[in-house]
Amino acid sequence: MAIYLDYNATAPLHPQALAKMQEWQLLPANPSSVHGFGRAAKKQLEDARKIIAESISAWPNEIIFTGSGTEANATALRGFPDRRLLVSAIEHSSVLSLQGGVADVAIQKNKDWIASASPRNDEIIQVDANGIINLAELEQKLAADSKPALVSVMLANNETGVIQPIAEVAAICKKYGALLHCDAVQALGKISVDFSLLGADMLTISAHKAGGALGAAALVIKNSISIRPLLTGGGQELGRRAGTENIAAISAFAAAVEAIDFAKMQKLRTWLDAMEKQMLQAGGVVFGGDAQRLPNTSCVAMPYVGNEVQLIDFDLNNYAVSAGSACSSGRIEKSHVLLAMGVAPELAACAIRVSAGWNTTEDEIKKFTESWLRLAGRLVKK
Ligand code: PLP
Repeated sequence: MAIYLDYNATAPLHPQALAKMQEWQLLPANPSSVHGFGRAAKKQLEDARKIIAESISAWPNEIIFTGSGTEANATALRGFPDRRLLVSAIEHSSVLSLQGGVADVAIQKNKDWIASASPRNDEIIQVDANGIINLAELEQKLAADSKPALVSVMLANNETGVIQPIAEVAAICKKYGALLHCDAVQALGKISVDFSLLGADMLTISAHKAGGALGAAALVIKNSISIRPLLTGGGQELGRRAGTENIAAISAFAAAVEAIDFAKMQKLRTWLDAMEKQMLQAGGVVFGGDAQRLPNTSCVAMPYVGNEVQLIDFDLNNYAVSAGSACSSGRIEKSHVLLAMGVAPELAACAIRVSAGWNTTEDEIKKFTESWLRLAGRLVKK
C-alpha cells in the first residue's frame, strides 16, 4: 500500500464525511425547491452552515458556500473592484494570479520573478527568511496611497506551513481603512481558525484540505460588508453566489469539521520533528523551521538532488509526497514561496513537501524518513 503524505494537496475523505456524502448523494437535493425534498435539502444546508460557522466563530449568514477555495479567493479579490490590491509574495497562485497581472508574469517566469520589475510590483509585500510577512512594508505601502485597499494574506502557507501574524496584519489594515482577506485553506483542521479573533474581514476555507469532499468550500465575510458577486443568476447564498449548492459535498464538509482532531495534529508535529532532526543530521535543509508552523507540514531540501529525482524515487517506493504546489503540477516549477524567502534557486529546486493528516501513522513517517535517508546516502555529494 502506498503511503500518502500529500495532505496539503488534498486529504483523504474522512469516514464521517464519506457517510454524509453517500447519504445526500442518493437524494434529489436542490435547496431552492419548494417541495419536501427541497425543504429537507434546505434544512440540511442550513444545519451544515451552522456547524461550519460555529467551528470558526463566525455567524451562519457570514458563510458563502463556493465550489472551491480558488473560487472563494476569486470572489473575495474580485468583489471590490474599486480597491487596490496588496498581497504577500507567498500567496497561493489562486490569489497571486488575481493581483494586477504581476503574478501571471511571476509564475510564468518563476526563475527570477523576485527581481523582475513590474509596473504593479509595489503591490506585493515581501516576506523574511522564515516566510513571515514584512509588516513594516505593509504599513508603508498602505500609508503611501490613500486609495482604499484590499489586502490578502494567508493564514498558513501550503508549502512550508509557516503561520502568518494575521491579527497584527488586521490591526494595520484597520488603521488605514483597508479590508483584509485571509486564505485559511491550509489552516482549517490543523490549527484553530477563529474568524472573530483573527480580525480579518473575509476568510477562505476549503473542505477537501480538511477531510471533506472536493466541490465544497466557503468564503466567510463579515455581515456588515457587501460584496459584488462573482457568479450571478439565481439568488442562492443571499445573492452573493449563484448556483445550486452542492448539498452532498457541503454535508461532508460539516462532517469533516466535526471530526477535526487537534490532538492528532500535535502528534503529527512530534513525528515530523523527529523526521526533520534525522534529515538535518544527514545534511537536509528544513524551511521555515524557526517560525510557527502547521503541525502537519515539513518542507525539506536534499541538497544536490533535484526534487524531480526525489519524487520519482519516492513514487517508485510507494510514497506520495510533492514539490511546489499541486495546482502547478505537471512540470515542477521552482517554488515562488522559497524564492521569496531568499532561498537560493539551486536549493529550492531540491525541496519537497511532506504533509501528513488525520489518517497518518508514526510508522508511516518513520518508513518515509528511512527512505529519504537511504536516497540521501546514495546521492548526496559528500
Ligand atoms: N489556497 C491555498 C493556500 C491552497 O493551498 C489551495 C490549494 O492548494 C487553495 C487556496 C485552492 O483551494 P482549492 O483546491 O479548494 O481550489
